[in-house]
Amino acid sequence: MSTNQHYSFFQSVERSFDKAAKFTNINHGLLEQIKACNSVLQMRFPIKRDDGTIEVIEAYRVQHSHHKAPCKGGIRFSDEVNQDEVMALASLMTYKCAIVNVPFGGGKGGIKINPRNYSEYELEKITRRYTAELVKKNFIGPGIDVPAPDYGTGSREMAWIVDTYQSLKPGEIDAAGCVTGKPVSQGGVRGRTEATGLGVFFGLREVCNMPRQMAKLGLPLGVKDKTLVVQGLGNVGYHCAKFFRENGAKVIALAEYEGAIYNADGLNEEEVFQHRKATGSILNFPGATNLAKNTDALELECDILIPAALENVINGENAPRVKAKIIGEAANGPCTPEADEDFQKRGILCVPDMYLNAGGVTVSYFEWLKNLSHVRYGRMEKRFTENLNTHILSQIETLTGKTVEAGERAFIMHGPEEVDLVHSGLEESMITATREIMAIWEANPAIPDMRTAAYVNAINKVATSYGELGIFP
Ligand code: GLU
Repeated sequence: MSTNQHYSFFQSVERSFDKAAKFTNINHGLLEQIKACNSVLQMRFPIKRDDGTIEVIEAYRVQHSHHKAPCKGGIRFSDEVNQDEVMALASLMTYKCAIVNVPFGGGKGGIKINPRNYSEYELEKITRRYTAELVKKNFIGPGIDVPAPDYGTGSREMAWIVDTYQSLKPGEIDAAGCVTGKPVSQGGVRGRTEATGLGVFFGLREVCNMPRQMAKLGLPLGVKDKTLVVQGLGNVGYHCAKFFRENGAKVIALAEYEGAIYNADGLNEEEVFQHRKATGSILNFPGATNLAKNTDALELECDILIPAALENVINGENAPRVKAKIIGEAANGPCTPEADEDFQKRGILCVPDMYLNAGGVTVSYFEWLKNLSHVRYGRMEKRFTENLNTHILSQIETLTGKTVEAGERAFIMHGPEEVDLVHSGLEESMITATREIMAIWEANPAIPDMRTAAYVNAINKVATSYGELGIFP
């Protein structure tokens, strides 16, 4: 966290909201209702550590908006967790869901612990107790509030949550939909793990394919050969780096807590990940140069900078030294409003978090739908599609007297698996969202940046939902 920030994270979100609200025609009172956090639950509960001592754990769940049900958003485990942060993140979830047309209100949870300081058994006890507290207060359920992974949590924690919930709610037929990001064996969906990183890739690829945007930045069209710096090699950063590399971009630097590494010829995220696992550090990776501070990576010359860790890493102090042409906010809130002002002045395109990293919640939506429908994606149509494609192919071959080559044949015949459908639903959601936001921005030249355009889109959609509900007679 930066020390020179003038506003709290929640205040920053409110400032960005207010900046965008001026470009809408929405009643002031309704804007205030959209902006406010509806419910805040603060918890303190004890756990017994492995050494026998008792520790009091501080935790939160915030439901920012009930304009749609359930509320949705991850749970983070971090030393930095506080009420303001969880409120800010819950607000971003509301706007994020609206932008990608995912019919949920925003929510977020946090437990103030550094998971690396706890054993697996202790983490399980904390997660299960947290879930029990949510059940007690009616703050979790497939139609109430549905947590998911976030910073410091993953499918393991989600498995503990669903198991605790199911044991406290026997016979609830849709109980598996009480949390998303579960392992596939526990009702998860294939494609959730890489969803946020893949969504970031789809979103930025769409931006890079927009001739007017690339002309403004003086960059060639497309992802191929673009240079990238990724801060954070967690689930999101890792998958961003992977999809960009696989599509011809060059990841020239990677940063983690302990430092950053640079190689102008490009880095392979999996090799770096294995190196870090083996040595405990990203540094001294063969062929790469170590950078003195991890924040140095943010100031490197590159086409795309992807902050994929925590909030407030680019602020009024270091923003003027950023040399990237595009910033892709894979994390939530990595750039402060002061940084936005600097980027606007210098013509840097900042592609905002609450739309760009919406891939996670989009695929969470698909998982929740799977849980409610009790059927795996592709089960009904895979065989039918394959039979139909085989029939069409043989008709083509009979009518033309020619044979389709084996590789092409396999590709054409392939019926959709769950992962194919999830990836394609994600691609559709991200492309549509990018185009909607750009259309709003281009239609109103007074809108200063893409974040404001994204907020305008989100505010209009949430306001419409309130109107549809008719809650203000
Ligand atoms: N934690 C992720 C986010 O910030 C995913 C939330 C979800 O899947 O509900 O968007």
